[in-house]
Amino acid sequence: MAVLDAFRLDDKVAVVTGGNQGLGEAFAHALAGVGAQVVLAARSRERSESVAADIGAEGGAATVVEVDVTQPDQVEQMLSEVTQRVGPVDILVNNAGTCYHRPAAEVPLEEWHDVFNVNVHGLWYCAQTVGRQMIERKTGVIVNIGSMSGFIVNRPQIQPAYNASKAAVHHLTRSLAAEWAPYNVRVNALAPGYVRTSMAPVDRPEFRRNWIEDAPMQRAALPEELGPSLVYLASDASSFMTGTVLVIDGGYTLW
Ligand code: NDP
Repeated sequence: MAVLDAFRLDDKVAVVTGGNQGLGEAFAHALAGVGAQVVLAARSRERSESVAADIGAEGGAATVVEVDVTQPDQVEQMLSEVTQRVGPVDILVNNAGTCYHRPAAEVPLEEWHDVFNVNVHGLWYCAQTVGRQMIERKTGVIVNIGSMSGFIVNRPQIQPAYNASKAAVHHLTRSLAAEWAPYNVRVNALAPGYVRTSMAPVDRPEFRRNWIEDAPMQRAALPEELGPSLVYLASDASSFMTGTVLVIDGGYTLW
């Protein structure tokens, strides 16, 4: 196989949770760009429809499914809707996530639960539900979006629940990878550093000192810079790779 052909995903069905803005939107464009039929799975249908229209205008294929990943019954419904409308899922990108900045002593219980409900439980519901179908078909790829926050404690913003949730994502990735390898289901994670999205307001002056000046590359990423790495993990280009957490952070965690 020619090297670049290994990155092609022609006609593969790729579900991207939270695919309607920020990193998820960039992942959706990247997957569609190498031939996948992308499913944008998030709560806001309006934003998802707008991204689907952009992908369509570029010659790609995108479908919208409304889902709140924290609701197991909605995740089940998502899978049956996708399977009926587009086909069984070849690639699942667990990207939906949320974050709050607050010192540990002041974190209200509902914020703690919200972070874990989206970042860990929602990811688990999607991985388990779609994973069952992949196991049955003996094929599939899951890419979980972790974070460098699963390895470090960020500054100056305090975000204990988020940091813990991303460490859980990384280790769940390894656990599922080991268990599902015999079924030809690969599970890897992508751990980005700071990326300019609504979750990471990288241009705010109070963050410049730690987020930008502390980074070897002296900048944050644009969402589209992460797209090729996602395609690598989702495609046969990484066919011998499972249980890996790929850190893409401009060198931030080196110091
Ligand atoms: P954004 O806040 O820009 O986007 C979050 C996305 O998640 C939205 O599309 C949102 O769509 C979706 N979402 C949130 N809650 C739910 C839910 N309950 N059900 C379904 N979808 C949901 O975040 P980013 O693009 O910055 O982050 C994407 C991922 O990348 C996250 O997992 C984040 O932790 C991770 N990450 C981000 C970094 C950064 O610097 N930006 C760095 C490292 C990791 P909707 O509201 O329509 O549901």
